[in-house]
Amino acid sequence: MTKKTAFITGSTSGIGLGIARALKKENYNIMLHGIEPPEKVSSLSKELNANYYQTDLTDNDSITKLMNDMTSDSEHIDVVINNAGIQHISPIENFSIEKWNLILQLNLTAAFIISKTIIPIMKQQKFGRIINIASAHGLVASPYKAAYVAAKHGLIGLTKVIALECAGFGITCNAICPGYVLTALVKKQIPEVAKEKNITEEQAINEYFLGAHARKEFVTIEEVAAAVSFIASDQTASITGISLPIEAGWTAA
Ligand code: NAD
Repeated sequence: MTKKTAFITGSTSGIGLGIARALKKENYNIMLHGIEPPEKVSSLSKELNANYYQTDLTDNDSITKLMNDMTSDSEHIDVVINNAGIQHISPIENFSIEKWNLILQLNLTAAFIISKTIIPIMKQQKFGRIINIASAHGLVASPYKAAYVAAKHGLIGLTKVIALECAGFGITCNAICPGYVLTALVKKQIPEVAKEKNITEEQAINEYFLGAHARKEFVTIEEVAAAVSFIASDQTASITGISLPIEAGWTAA
């Protein structure tokens, strides 16, 4: 069997890197992506024997170039994981339009452009898995996260539309909705939440972050990566358009 190829946006750290490592173990060719210069991630490219694509996904022309480069580097791209994302915390009255646009662009529009480019290729291949890393915040809201919550809810909507349009072409599209995972994205928020709520960082972790989880522990990168590996596999043709919560019971409440 030919080796499958997986492209993962934002795979230089956190959840994206965990997914890349999990798929590598399953013998995929990995296409790594991030904003860091290649020399900063050369050890990762080496570890995963992967091509690395440095692209700022907030720039639409750069996304087009990225997709052209990738499709000329690889004969087929079987799995695309829209994972890159950022967060910004602010009460809505002070939420700048620049930050709003930036988060919507990176967390939602980039996934739209990447999907729209890859779908015709996946249709020709008669196989494709598009997996969008949304969030529990695609299912429920929290204060101070207007743009992120809106983008992640939008990403779940986009997931459903792609699933419907691609049904019958061997292509599935699903969203994964993690709860809090202790990555750079969350570590940055801990002091911000503590400041916003006038509490200590320990209180912020226990009350705000783990407080949301019925199981009072962070979700792990490995748990999210294992779900992605399963959804990416050949056995999931009938799983499409879903939003899979991996959020320690958060949205059950
Ligand atoms: P992270 O900060 O560790 O990784 C973010 C990745 O995005 C990096 O690889 C970075 O290179 C890339 N990136 C950042 N800005 C970019 C830009 N302008 N253009 C292109 N790439 C850019 O964060 P993470 O926690 O691993 O988050 C990964 C995804 O998981 C995000 O979409 C996030 O919303 C989602 N998520 C995270 C959590 C969590 O608790 N950490 C929970 C739910 C969903």
